[in-house]
Amino acid sequence: MRILIVDDSVDARTVAKARLSAEGHEIICAEGGQIGLDLAAKENPDLILLDVDMPGMSGFEVCRKLKSNDELHLIPVIFVSGSGDAGDKVIGLDLGAIDYVTKPFDAFELRARVRAALRTKRLQDILRDKALIDPLTELGNRRAFDERLRLEWSRAARYNLQLALIMADIDHFKDINDQYGHQIGDEVLRRISCRLSACLRECDAIYRYGGEEFGTLLPETSLSGAIELAQRLCAQISAEPLQIGNQTLKVSASFGAASNQDVNDPESLVGAADEQLYEAKGDGRNCVRPLINAPVQNQR
Ligand code: GH3
Ligand code: MG
Ligand code: MG
Repeated sequence: MRILIVDDSVDARTVAKARLSAEGHEIICAEGGQIGLDLAAKENPDLILLDVDMPGMSGFEVCRKLKSNDELHLIPVIFVSGSGDAGDKVIGLDLGAIDYVTKPFDAFELRARVRAALRTKRLQDILRDKALIDPLTELGNRRAFDERLRLEWSRAARYNLQLALIMADIDHFKDINDQYGHQIGDEVLRRISCRLSACLRECDAIYRYGGEEFGTLLPETSLSGAIELAQRLCAQISAEPLQIGNQTLKVSASFGAASNQDVNDPESLVGAADEQLYEAKGDGRNCVRPLINAPVQNQR
């Protein structure tokens, strides 16, 4: 696993690195608080060993910033400090650190504490994956979609980029369940999610939004680019019937697209794509909305 050591002392970094690389971890080092924060954001380490007393930004301040950052707050922090003062330990642990070790440390003890912290991190990663993945289709779930939408929305706003969304909904899916049973229905969901993912450049852009609805986020894509892709997805779904056991099922889906150029917040982007999807259902299903008159250039 990857460990970030943040300490202003060369000697302290060298010692900690020597003690820990024997365990087979990848070690990266930062000589100050701000560099440590930048490296944490860039390298996404599994653990941070953080010195408390550093010029400029103290370890406590670094920890405070880590714990208030949505993308960094889950990285466990072990303070490694020259101060064994009980008050400092209380401050460090209350700031959200998982442990507090005093220098000079015993090498075996440090390794054991690092192993313990990494065990917790591994479990936390497993739980997080489970919380974000839909077990049926193995696509990201609604929670993952919402997180990614927020991230892409703020990235698009910051850099003035386009962001498009396609919402897809399987047509008459209730009839499939009613006619063939829920197990076949589940298999249809799996097959459709594979067909959709296969058409996309980045498989992780597609999410199971709800029951038989899928959301596809398209960073740096115009509305016409999204419509063009949705038309390909639509054609791909209904191109060939699904063969499940000895059943042959004709399946189609309807699609709605929207872009951040026409709305002011992420919720409205979903709302706009949903409205278009509703229009596509009204148009007789197995089609894409909005309609475009001019031939669409591929703007992706
Ligand atoms: P429309 O073309 O208007 O979208 O009709 P529809 O039948 O697809 O839409 P409706 O919303 O009436 O029905 C959706 C169905 O999807 C109802 C629900 O039981 C089923 N469903 C939702 N999640 C699952 C699932 O995980 N597995 C199975 N088998 N069915 C599911
Ligand atoms: Mg449906
Ligand atoms: Mg539906």
